[in-house]
Amino acid sequence: MKYAELANPGVLEQPVYEPGKSIDYVAREYGLDPSKVAKLASNENPLGPSPMAVEAGKRALEKAHLYPDGGCYELRAGIASLRGVEADSVIVGNGSNELIELLGHAFLRPGTEVVVGAQSFIVYQLVAKLFGAMPVFVPMSKFSHDLKAMREAVTERTRMVFVASPNNPTGGVNFEAEIIELVESLPEYVILCFDEAYAEYLENAPDLRRCIEAGRKVVCLRTFSKIYGLGGLRLGYAYGDPDLITLLQRVRQPFNVNAIAQAAASAALKDVNFVAMCREQNEAGRKRLCQGLEAFGYETFGGQANFVLSRVGRGIHVFEMLQACGIIVRPLEAYGMPDFVRITIGTAGENERLLNAMEKIGVSAK
Ligand code: PMP
Repeated sequence: MKYAELANPGVLEQPVYEPGKSIDYVAREYGLDPSKVAKLASNENPLGPSPMAVEAGKRALEKAHLYPDGGCYELRAGIASLRGVEADSVIVGNGSNELIELLGHAFLRPGTEVVVGAQSFIVYQLVAKLFGAMPVFVPMSKFSHDLKAMREAVTERTRMVFVASPNNPTGGVNFEAEIIELVESLPEYVILCFDEAYAEYLENAPDLRRCIEAGRKVVCLRTFSKIYGLGGLRLGYAYGDPDLITLLQRVRQPFNVNAIAQAAASAALKDVNFVAMCREQNEAGRKRLCQGLEAFGYETFGGQANFVLSRVGRGIHVFEMLQACGIIVRPLEAYGMPDFVRITIGTAGENERLLNAMEKIGVSAK
């Protein structure tokens, strides 16, 4: 008997997440020096982690023989104070990916539906499918979620609605007033998951705390993988009503966040100057990339996160040609956007290299 025959229902149909290509992989494939490969494919922070986070992580590594604090006491306290909520309103996860999965564990099952934007973060639909729920795709409006259409897609089977602002991969945003209007219009058996992975790049991020306090069904997700530069440590958090957070605590693994990650993240939260510097550099990089790409005749959509979208013709072709030049970007075929690539805003040097390479390959790409 084959293992596949023993697999649970749905396992064989479960789509597999395709991550951005790694630097080592591209260096190997194209015979390049890994130190010369620029990864602009996964919306990481090109400036790395805060030096304070690195120091704290190193110190924690020396105590790696001890299990981590399963309750993430110190980190939750730091997050709670930053967000202005109580610690029992916060849960930390192994990346916000894990928190999306915990939401699935707690609330999704066969027969339920999950409303998602047609070009929104792919993990929402993967998690829906993992728990046998049905993703219901709603067309987006100019790269942002069409919240009215999402509301109309809600049925008596809907249990969750996912809204990301800024949205990945499109970069479009939704505004606080319209999100609150959606939240207030949802039936009490539907939870809005508001994904704020890129919120730190915004000047005025929507604040849904008053909806949470008013007892509306909302949970917010944040991550340390973007502006905090800790993607490799896998850390995200959710905040919401303590009743919801308690349910998520029940379905997580006992030690889901490792000790090095906890220590580094606690330190990263304190380094507010580093975060401000990253935000500034990101803005300068966005301007440069958009202006440079447009000068070559490529339409760009700057969005408000740490990446830009560019309409380059055949995205997969441009992706391959850039890879041969040692620059990794993200083609968006999987999101139904074959003429786009998503480019993470890099360091000033990486942005110039990307623009030089685009200029070189430009004629053949169009
Ligand atoms: N949400 C969005 C919108 C994202 O773009 C990402 C990462 N690409 C995540 C969640 C997951 O982040 P992580 O698991 O690294 O915290």
